[in-house]
Amino acid sequence: MPEEMVPVTFDTLMNFRCSPENECFNDCCRDLNQALTPYDVLRLRKSLGMISQDFLKKYTSLHHGPKSGLPVVEFKPNPETGHACPFVTPEGCSVYKDRPASCRMYPLARAITRSRETGEVSEFFALIEEPHCKGFGAKSDLTVQEWLKDQDVQTHNEENDKLMGLISLKNRILPGKLEGNQADKFYLALYDLDEFRFLIFNKNFLEALKLPESILEKIKGNDEALLDFGIAWVGFVLFGIPMSFGD
Ligand code: SF4
Ligand code: SF4
Repeated sequence: MPEEMVPVTFDTLMNFRCSPENECFNDCCRDLNQALTPYDVLRLRKSLGMISQDFLKKYTSLHHGPKSGLPVVEFKPNPETGHACPFVTPEGCSVYKDRPASCRMYPLARAITRSRETGEVSEFFALIEEPHCKGFGAKSDLTVQEWLKDQDVQTHNEENDKLMGLISLKNRILPGKLEGNQADKFYLALYDLDEFRFLIFNKNFLEALKLPESILEKIKGNDEALLDFGIAWVGFVLFGIPMSFGD
């Protein structure tokens, strides 16, 4: 039976329950084809106490979108476990507090539109009813909005929306395939944050930009601020969007 997409609103009751008692427990973590966002990588590697390069090398694989040339970072399949997530255990997710946005959202799909005038984001949701998932049909008092709060997914969504903004910029300004060195810059500044920071502070990588002291101070020890900066820098260096150094 194919999967079904059922549109829902914030007020729809979320009649869904994922539990270790379900016969499908962990099945959704055993057959992965899961792309990771820069913020997913940031949270996961910090949770594991790893620098970005080590995390990316050990747990992810990289390929490029055939038409866009954009880097696509995915969990690396473990040859011993087929396509299982490297973090699934018999007891469940071993990185639950810092699991990726897609794991938090499942079985909801989320789409956004952004107003060109105000920048305001509108969200749309649908339930993906997949036959293998036995969580559907359970009675629940939680609405979709309450369920999303329970999944603690808002920060992930806000951070990932910044990536979507950058991708839609690319689609508008540079609709073709990114060149190799353009894709490398995208990957460096969004995924390999420790290397990006090293190049800025130890190799004068962005010397020509004459970054104000306040910005350098901000990105020196704060990964979230560095990721925001990386997104702005990619917008500037690849798509010509001026960088603002205001607070
Ligand atoms: S398949 Fe569905 S119910 Fe089963 S563990 Fe995954 S999310 Fe939970
Ligand atoms: S990160 Fe956790 S929830 Fe997500 S696929 Fe891996 S084990 Fe499952």
